[in-house]
Amino acid sequence: MFDTAIAGSLPKPAWLAETQKLWPQWKAQGDELLQAKADATLLWIKAQEDAGLDVIGDGEQARQHFVHGFVEQVEGIDFVNKVTMGIRNNRYDAQVPQVIAPLRLKGRVHAFEAQLARAHTKKKLKFTLPGPMTIVDTVADRFYGDKVKMAMAFAELLNQEALALQADGVDIIQFDEPAFNVYMAEAADWGVAALEVAARGLTCTTAVHICYGYGIEANVKWKETLGDQWRQYEQVFPALAKSSIDQVSLECFHSHVPPELMKLLAGKDVMVGVIDVASDVIETPEQVADTIGLALQYVPKDKLIACTNCGLAPMSREVAMAKLDALARGAALARQRYGV
Ligand code: ZN
Repeated sequence: MFDTAIAGSLPKPAWLAETQKLWPQWKAQGDELLQAKADATLLWIKAQEDAGLDVIGDGEQARQHFVHGFVEQVEGIDFVNKVTMGIRNNRYDAQVPQVIAPLRLKGRVHAFEAQLARAHTKKKLKFTLPGPMTIVDTVADRFYGDKVKMAMAFAELLNQEALALQADGVDIIQFDEPAFNVYMAEAADWGVAALEVAARGLTCTTAVHICYGYGIEANVKWKETLGDQWRQYEQVFPALAKSSIDQVSLECFHSHVPPELMKLLAGKDVMVGVIDVASDVIETPEQVADTIGLALQYVPKDKLIACTNCGLAPMSREVAMAKLDALARGAALARQRYGV
């Protein structure tokens, strides 16, 4: 009961990349960089296991950014001539690559870190990929001229890599779709359908993570404009409830999401965000258990997974380590409180 998992990303050690940045520069090159990525992946697997988490991830140590890590391995994209583009409905500017030709995978994308992680943990292994709609919102289109068409093209590539990750022994494949919370009508209209193309044929557990973004300043400011009740999930969850996706990861602690919206996910496993990623204050086990208690009003005990609100990538390593610990200790307390 109350398995624990992180959303996906963890801070990169200072010897691997610049710290506390969303698009950090690597500190090494070539074989040395590959070794550093492997070392950092192992370090975080150990840290998650030491904390006592039930689901382990690679912490996204081998990719610069959660979207561009995938996109770098796609043919038809100009990664050299990046352009500045407002992303997430112009919430902030990013340097994005341009789609200039038909899309095709250059080969495997995440085999190295997925196989490494699989070889070094016996626990359930979760692996994250960006969702098609979020990728489309993080690249500049100079070729397709149609968002849905381009999303479906990316979804086919994601599906190819997801099936290969499953063959590598990954237990849970999660697609990250923060864009669902920005373009809600489009998410319900075609975003969920694109997601299902990405997950087609998978027999392992499938998941989607929908959040209000990393704890960076642009996101914190955006959240201030969203009012007292964040009802974005209300427009997307009904479409997800009807989909084939098994698990949904959502924000809860310190967010203004009305918790009753979790009822819209009947039948799904719900990864409830019990750890705030926009604050360096470490949650107490009591706070984590309280959030789980709140969610239990809307989610059955056997469907609740305790999770972080989003990735921990831009945080300090010390804070992230302490938050993993708080997550595990809070879930343990919740098992004592609510487990019968
Ligand atoms: Zn997130």
